Parts: sequence; structure tokens; C-alpha cells
Amino acid sequence: VTREAVEADVVIVGAGPAGLSAAIRIKQLGRLAGLDPSVLVVEKASQVGAHIVSGAIIDPCALQALFPDWRSLGAPLTIPVRNEAFRYLTSRHALTIPGVLLPRPMHNEGNFVVSLGTLCQWLAAQAGELGAEIFPGFAATELLLDERGNVAGIVTGDMGLDRDSRAKPGHAPGMELRARYTLLAEGARGSLARQAVRRFGLDRGSDPQKYGLGIKEIWKVAPDKWRPGEVQHTLGWPLDNRTGGGGFIYHGADQTVSVGFVAHLNYENPYLSPFEDMQRFKTHPHISPLLEGGERLAYGARAMTSGGWQSIPQLAFPGGALVGCSAGFMNLPRIKGTHNAMWSGMAAAEAVFPALEAGRAHDLLDDLDQAVRSGPIRDDLWPVRNVKPLLAMLGTPLATLAGGIDMWIGTLLGASPTGHAATPQAGSCSPAPRQPVQAHQLPQARWQADI
Ligand SMILES: Cc1cc2nc3c(=O)[nH]c(=O)nc-3n(C[C@H](O)[C@H](O)[C@H](O)COP(=O)(O)OP(=O)(O)OC[C@H]3O[C@@H](n4cnc5c(N)ncnc54)[C@H](O)[C@@H]3O)c2cc1C
Repeated sequence: VTREAVEADVVIVGAGPAGLSAAIRIKQLGRLAGLDPSVLVVEKASQVGAHIVSGAIIDPCALQALFPDWRSLGAPLTIPVRNEAFRYLTSRHALTIPGVLLPRPMHNEGNFVVSLGTLCQWLAAQAGELGAEIFPGFAATELLLDERGNVAGIVTGDMGLDRDSRAKPGHAPGMELRARYTLLAEGARGSLARQAVRRFGLDRGSDPQKYGLGIKEIWKVAPDKWRPGEVQHTLGWPLDNRTGGGGFIYHGADQTVSVGFVAHLNYENPYLSPFEDMQRFKTHPHISPLLEGGERLAYGARAMTSGGWQSIPQLAFPGGALVGCSAGFMNLPRIKGTHNAMWSGMAAAEAVFPALEAGRAHDLLDDLDQAVRSGPIRDDLWPVRNVKPLLAMLGTPLATLAGGIDMWIGTLLGASPTGHAATPQAGSCSPAPRQPVQAHQLPQARWQADI
């Protein structure tokens, strides 16, 4: 196949918070040094933010570092968290866990309820103004390798294929985007990131990555039920005590409320359906009144990483690095990964830029891993590192208690022993015949999202 080729200093795969922060930081460093490194960002969604399931709470710490003047620049963080509650649900009741018992990482003062898609569009506009080129509608499908086997860019997918991957009229082969350094910012379980992890053995020294499935719906609620800045997290029903996960409800801008539900993908019951449990979650007597009379505007599902500190692979590989949730920087008890994705994008930029200045290409960014493991990401993930191992071992109620105690010990004494969840999640499901078939009824159709 003859492919068109484009050359750049840096190619970034994925215009999420991580990839865009990397692009912005490289261009900012270029401006400071009077240089203009070329930065290309490819994004598989038709527009930036379209594949990001919006409605999130953001810790603005990384944004503050990237743009100290983000408020005057008009960053779309307008709804501060004003009121928060953490609840344990039984099928009929909601027990509020007093805020004073919650360890510090689980509090949300200073955070904002945002649309993550809108934030990405804003970041993309800033990156564009600084001179980065962003190409929505292009999926990276292969890593390009140089003669030494080091990463030297990416190949984008062919356009104009039919459903059996055969060329149809208007077919155009994908392009080669050659780069001195390639940053993989594809989010959780990225396809090129997985190729790089396998090829370079990046996960040799870490626990296996863990995943959850998050389902989110954006609702426009009745005006008298909208309380901007109110946020709520839940554990318990409709999941059983052996199944990790929980729900969240965030009141955002313009009368919208994000209702979401996460199931950890190490559940035993082969009949469990996270989608159906999300639908049940909305019918809880504590939650359904909020949605009565409202309208669902959007919905989507996405994988999230949940292995935390112990599952972070080596980030740098010859010719590039993993950034953001491609590496897995999600803080599970906080249900937040955006700030760490941004920190890691900035750290990668700060490793790439001196290498570009030194005329290097396709080699290992040696200082990156150490920088990430001793910076703000460490401060965020290290204190909560035992939560996932405890969940895998003890089930939700006991692990919530033990995880809370562990986080308090960490907060008060600065240390606690590190646990591991060293078993991969695949294989957690029991063979079907050993489990009773779930006999739950799905709620009435009006509550359900179409799939
Ligand atoms: C249900 C749910 C709720 C969450 N809630 C919160 C929250 O409240 N607060 C918070 O801070 N975090 C939250 N997170 C986590 C947060 O979304 C992630 O940590 C963050 O988005 C990671 O940023 P990223 O840039 O690494 O990846 P992503 O945001 O996933 O962005 C990756 C981008 O790369 C693109 N892409 C992927 N592969 C390719 C490819 N091969 N070629 C081209 N483009 C590609 C994708 O389309 C996407 O735009 C939540 C996650 C989920 C699933």
C-alpha cells in the first residue's frame, strides 16, 4: 500500500485531557525557548470530546498548573461542588455516611462539576491557539517502527471500508504520521497502548491493570430539583456485597444532572449486567424522584482503569510514552482521573521537549518514569493504593471500612503497608451453571436508555 506520509516532531494519539495537556505543554515550552516544535494530535471521534462521556467532578490542580489564569481564559469550570454526600444503598433505604468519617481524599471542596467533553473542547482550542494541529476523525491503528524496532510514529486507519474491511468506492489508505516522539493518550485500554505494552514488556514490574465499566446518563431535570454543585456517591444496591462498584449523581450547569454507575470488572456472577443494574439504580426510591419529570439528553459507557498505583506500567518506551489512562492513573476512591491524566501529559511534554532540543529522536525518555513516580500523581495515588487490593479481597462493606481506616492511617501517620491485587480480573467470572440466574425485572421502559 502506498501511503501519504507527514512528518512532525511529536504525534499524540487521543485528544482527551492527557493528550491535549501534553500538546499544550510542549507548545508552551517551545514558546518559552523561542522554538516551534510541530505537534500533531489525532482523535478518532468526529469532534474533540465526542467520545468522552461528560459530566464529571474535576480537581483543578493540574489545570491550575497548565494555565494559572484559567479563570480569565474562560475555562468551562463554573459550578463548584457545594454540597456532597456519600451513601450506602439498600434496596429501599439510603444510609448517609457522615462526612467527618470520610478520609480527606474523598472530599470534594475546591472541585468543580464539569462537562468533560466541553473541557476537552476548550483545551483543544487552547492547544490550537498555541499552534498544535488537531485532526478529529482519524483513528491511529498501528505503530510505525524504525529499523531498530523503536516507535517512529503511527498509521491512521483506512477510510472507505465496508463492514467486512473491504475497500469500497472512495477508499483511501491511512496515512503515516512519522514523529520523533509518539505519545499514546488513548484512555483506558487503548489499542496502540496495548501493542506498546506487549512489545516493550512495559507491565513487567507492575500488578495487572484492573478495569471498571462506567455508564453515564445526562439528564435535564425539573427546575425545582436542580441544585448546581450538589454531588452524591453511593455504594451497595443494586450490586451485591461481593461486587465492587457504585453510583454517582452530579448536578452540573444548565439544569443538567449526570447519573452514573460503575461496575468493577472482576465480578463473579456471569449473569450480572452493568447496563441493567444502572437502569435499576435509577429506580431506587432515593433517586427516582430526582429524575421524575426530567428528560435524558445523552448517555454512554466507557471503560475506566482502577488498578491505581501498583498497576502503573513503565511509561516510557523507545520512541514515546504512555500518558493518561492509557497508563492508568485513575484514583478509584475519588473516582477521578482527569487531573492525573493532565499531570502525566504535562510530565511527558517536559520529558519530550529537552529531548527535541537536544536533537534526539525515537529513543527512551529516561527521566519520565521517575518524574511521574515522585510528582503530584504519586501524592494523589499513593495514599489510596490499598483500596483496590482490599476491595478485591474483602468485598464492598468490609473493604470500605478497611479502606477508610487505611486511608486515615495514611493521612495521620503518613504510611501503611502496601497491598497488591496481583491476579488479573479475567477469570473472575464463575462458570455459568454454578450461579443462579438473576431473576430481576428490568424497570419500566421509560427509565431505560435504548441500546
Ligand atoms: C463513567 C466514568 C466516570 C468518570 N468520572 C470522572 C470524574 O468525575 N472525574 C474525573 O476526574 N475523572 C472521571 N473519570 C475518569 C476520566 O474520564 C479519565 O481519567 C480521563 O478522561 C482520562 O483522560 P485521558 O486523556 O487519559 O483519556 P480519555 O479521556 O479517555 O481520552 C482519550 C481520547 O483518545 C481518543 N482515542 C482513543 N484511541 C484512539 C486512537 N487509536 N486514535 C485516535 N484517537 C483515539 C478517544 O476518542 C478519546 O477522545 C470517569 C471515567 C468514567 C468511565
